[in-house]
Amino acid sequence: MSEIRYDRLHDLHVIIAPERLRHPDEVESLEKIVPEPYPSEPCPFCEGNEALTPREIYALRDEGSIINESGWQTRVVPNLFKAVQIETPPNHHFGLFEYREGFGAHEVIIDTPRHTTSMCEWGVQDAIMWFTTLAQRVGDLRRDHRITHISLFKNEGKNAGSSMSHCHTQLIALPLVPKSHSELYRRAYEYYQGNAHPLMESIVSQEEQMQSRIIEKAGGFTSFCPYASGYPFEVMISSAYERGHIDTLKAEQIETISTLLVSTLQKLKRQLGVFHFNLSVSTPPLIDYAGEDLSELCRFTIRIMPRLYRHGGFENTSGILINPVTPELAAKLLRESNHE
Ligand SMILES: [Zn+2]
Repeated sequence: MSEIRYDRLHDLHVIIAPERLRHPDEVESLEKIVPEPYPSEPCPFCEGNEALTPREIYALRDEGSIINESGWQTRVVPNLFKAVQIETPPNHHFGLFEYREGFGAHEVIIDTPRHTTSMCEWGVQDAIMWFTTLAQRVGDLRRDHRITHISLFKNEGKNAGSSMSHCHTQLIALPLVPKSHSELYRRAYEYYQGNAHPLMESIVSQEEQMQSRIIEKAGGFTSFCPYASGYPFEVMISSAYERGHIDTLKAEQIETISTLLVSTLQKLKRQLGVFHFNLSVSTPPLIDYAGEDLSELCRFTIRIMPRLYRHGGFENTSGILINPVTPELAAKLLRESNHE
């Protein structure tokens, strides 16, 4: 029996339809993904090939190493195919129509010096260095007061829209808050006005009470399959109490989230084999809403969205996702998926 569930966080409906697993097309699209072979061309993201990328913006470097040469753990460079760049943004008007030049920052974080093609192969130390780098970039860009929104995301594998196999993350900083985000934060604000608790605090607390969708807990952080998961085996790692911005997390919190992230990805890999996914890290807007600092109302959240199925016409036209795996089943399988 299917259910139409309401995703209160994103104000969307999803259809949880386990019977669709028997649909022949869906079974076909569950075929195993073969890991990508080592590229025949030199990989510009591998250590030793620094000359193949634009000059670095930032790197976690070994002591004594030289900028734009080898000897680094993470490296940040401008995106060659950038959507926006930091330059003066005059607004142009033609009667009713207006545009501004693509102002902002588009950066690529090279997650590791090794040619690692999946985040599922990372150790906790890799994750700590990744979080530390993201936090440094957010903290640095926050100082430019023209920037009001930062997106942090990973596309891993072709099904998730990635064109480079070497593990990397993208950062896009903009002088405006995208509509979907401003609506998300307006709802967070309204919920707080009516309930005196942040929405994510209430969601994580209720998940913890119900237990059926919880995967694992560590320190103040919890990994769970959200009630209205739009994607099969969708996972959120969040906290009921930790504020939204990555650059305000303390070193021991980064260590806790890194441990939880690595453990969650390994559980997903044990269940799904090699899988493609999108991942986003929450980034509350850098401006106040209705005089309120929204990072006080938002909670630090990582969202992992496995791309096991292709979306069809219904999803594309209605904006409603159909998920054939109940989040309760996904969480149970992940909970039980311990080290071999
Ligand atoms: Zn590489």
